[in-house]
Amino acid sequence: MNIPQPLFDDPVLRPIHHFDGARDHAAPQERLNCVRLRAQRFREEMLVEGPVTYYRSFDLIRVPYPTRYALRDACAVPTPYIHIINRMFIVQFESAEGIKTLLVSPSDIRANRETPFFKRLSGRFGPFREQIEPLIAPELGTVEMCLARTEIRPEDVDYITYDHLHTQDLRRWLGTQDQPAYFPNAHLLVMRQEWESARALLPPQADWYCPNGTVGVPPEKIVLLDNDVMLGKSAALVQTPGHTEGNHSIVVHTEEGLMVTSENGVSPDAYAPMHSKIPGLKKYARETGMDVVLNSNTLERGLDQYISMVQEKEIAGPSVRNPDFYNVVPSSELSAYWLFPGIEPSFSFGPLEFGKPQSHGVTEGS
Ligand SMILES: [Zn+2]
Repeated sequence: MNIPQPLFDDPVLRPIHHFDGARDHAAPQERLNCVRLRAQRFREEMLVEGPVTYYRSFDLIRVPYPTRYALRDACAVPTPYIHIINRMFIVQFESAEGIKTLLVSPSDIRANRETPFFKRLSGRFGPFREQIEPLIAPELGTVEMCLARTEIRPEDVDYITYDHLHTQDLRRWLGTQDQPAYFPNAHLLVMRQEWESARALLPPQADWYCPNGTVGVPPEKIVLLDNDVMLGKSAALVQTPGHTEGNHSIVVHTEEGLMVTSENGVSPDAYAPMHSKIPGLKKYARETGMDVVLNSNTLERGLDQYISMVQEKEIAGPSVRNPDFYNVVPSSELSAYWLFPGIEPSFSFGPLEFGKPQSHGVTEGS
């Protein structure tokens, strides 16, 4: 089998070792303390450098998601579902090789419908599926449309990354023998564990991965990461296992500080339950001592997920918009929706945009 190898000869990617060994201790409390301290140090170091040149988030689709997964047993509202908004981010950053473009979480929303969990869910609507689906899972934009709004062209995209590969189908973006890549110059940055998982799933995992979503993608387009890495000096991919074994977080230095993205938690509320107005969360945090509320659909590594969420919020730091909450911008974020009443986030980031996009070194509008 042709196994992709790490491309550390790519001068844009620099392995970093801030968190190496931080989870080796047998005592969970020691692991948590060690990760927390190192996260604070990492944050200070990243903030010494300047922000990325461009950062923008786009809403792609609203998806129903069981409340018991989103907020575990913390939420006191009986509404069985909430909505999560699946997002894409465009990040452009300076590197030794000039401005580079990273797409974070570009979901092929049509192909992703093949994910067994969501396929079963929509199958329940039987013959009314076509009428009901736009209501319960409205599309807000496609990757192609969002990119076009920035004048960044598909060939400008250098890297694609996902905090984890749940629901993702990469074939359209990276190409296969039978179809050309929509992003002809893009490489996928993925943790080796996530890649290995996605191609050899156990049943508890398989419900959430798009079948064949990675099959046939040319190996030379896959960059398997064994370490945390910096992308230039203003963005980083940091291993944060838990939600999945190969989970990582995307850390981006913006004009509002360090933004951290993953799906370990589904809302800024989940990272600051003591400040949450969602019924039940504050009580849950007070009674259990939990500092965070885990996104619980898979819990591939439950304790690690807890530690990872603390790590994420320590790296992110408080939001300048509301210091009770952290600069954590989930890739799929809890949002209020009329169809699922009773639950709305206490704080959320709307669409974010910092800086100006560039296409082939030319600033938009210049
Ligand atoms: Zn997931």
